[in-house]
Amino acid sequence: FHVPVAVNEPVKSYAPGTPEREEVLLTYKDLYNTKMEVPLYIGSDEIKTGDTATMHPPHDHQHNLGIFHKASKKHVEQAIETALEARTAWADLEWEHRAAVFLKAADLIAGKYRSKINAATMIGQSKNIYQAEIDAACELCDFLRFNVEYMSQIYDEQPESSEGAWNRVEYRPLEGFVYAITPFNFTAIAGNLPSSAALMGNVAIWKPSDSQVFSAQIIMDIFKEAGLPDGVINMVMGDPVMITDTILASPDFAGVHFTGSTTVFKDIWQKIGNNIHKYKTYPRIVGETGGKDFIVAHPSSNPDQVATAISRGAFEFQGQKCSAASRVYLPQSLWPRIKELVIKDVQSFKMGSPEDMSNFITAVIHEGSFDKLAKYIDKAKKDKNAEIVVGGNYDKSKGYFIEPTVILTSDPHYTTMETELFGPVVTIYLYKDSEWDKTLKLVDETSPYGLTGAVFSGDRYELSKATKALQNAAGNFYLNDKPTGAVVGQQPFGGARASGTNDKAGSKLNLLRWVSPRLIKETY
Ligand code: GLU
Repeated sequence: FHVPVAVNEPVKSYAPGTPEREEVLLTYKDLYNTKMEVPLYIGSDEIKTGDTATMHPPHDHQHNLGIFHKASKKHVEQAIETALEARTAWADLEWEHRAAVFLKAADLIAGKYRSKINAATMIGQSKNIYQAEIDAACELCDFLRFNVEYMSQIYDEQPESSEGAWNRVEYRPLEGFVYAITPFNFTAIAGNLPSSAALMGNVAIWKPSDSQVFSAQIIMDIFKEAGLPDGVINMVMGDPVMITDTILASPDFAGVHFTGSTTVFKDIWQKIGNNIHKYKTYPRIVGETGGKDFIVAHPSSNPDQVATAISRGAFEFQGQKCSAASRVYLPQSLWPRIKELVIKDVQSFKMGSPEDMSNFITAVIHEGSFDKLAKYIDKAKKDKNAEIVVGGNYDKSKGYFIEPTVILTSDPHYTTMETELFGPVVTIYLYKDSEWDKTLKLVDETSPYGLTGAVFSGDRYELSKATKALQNAAGNFYLNDKPTGAVVGQQPFGGARASGTNDKAGSKLNLLRWVSPRLIKETY
């Protein structure tokens, strides 16, 4: 039979007076004032270890949201054992049962728990409601539903048979367990990384980011309510190095599904290499890591379009997207108009707590991120080859607020043109209109990363030329559009070079990494 054709979850408006707006505000207040206590989830057990950390909203860091419990090495070993005990039954379950669990989870997110998961994302990760809706409600549902459709397409793919012999491929899960390490910036990615591996019949251990535990707990509860059997996904928090080292030391470690920093991913890769003789099978290594995403505009481009791409691409979600525009190359001739528009746009962005729905910009995730961004902004204020065009203020007295900041530099190699900042700071370099070809070369040569990029031009030949010149500089490449906002089912997302293994989140390609196919031939 056929699974339902996946369609993108419609984005609700949250306009004043809508029921969803009233509801999410009430839920926000409720969650804000309830002290959560997040346990480890190991099999059927919810374990309160007593070793705890406190959770705070980034926009109000003195407010206490409750605690989460941290795992010891023993707990991680227990999680591995529990996952392995659950493995055979889950792997042998017909795929429609696995699909049903995650389709049901999507329906719960879209319906009963929409306000809760959105409010938790607004509070714990400081997103405005529109960002929370796109991420937690819609994108997570989309991942779950589209993955089911991709899974059924994979299972449908069978080799030819000949007279007297038939061939069949069984898409078996990996022999062992999968380790999912997820970031703070997307609730959807957090839910997707363990569930996509589990959908294909794997058991998983999931380590959410400390800064996303608040909404991670809700995802875990939803999976359980949707009927996920105990032990299939086990959630542990705590010291990331200890957890990773313990997991990578297991002979049954069969793969890692990672989104996070380039440094941590490379470190994990190296550790896997060091442990390679321990494993029963070569582990699958799938990761989406950093980015230093570009916008490059040709003199023929529409300056209004380019300006919108800069202010939206760089500052939506506080720039805390792997895909966020962070270095921009503009022809000198277009700068006066683009500058005027970007300044106007940025000055219209209100900044503050997500509870006030007129705030577009909220806080960055934590003090470490705030301090790093403030340091680079201060440097740009002092450096001779840089100036602040708009923004440049910051304040951490109540929350970690960084004003959206545009830096202009005369040096294409200026530090903020090359360093990933992961926040609302974008740097612009102006090139001579006659030096377009040279600029394309420059963009490519200064791209150790390869995640997203956008090219603007009104001339089709130039768009084509740029597409070829930058063919390895971005796994998601946008023509006359901002480099952010990939939608599941439409723009599968990921990049190569230092940005990851380019296994495209939300795709058949990604799901294929979580199977170990067996070909069966029988002659008769
Ligand atoms: N998929 C998101 C986008 O296209 C970015 C995901 C990420 O930050 O990892 O904007």
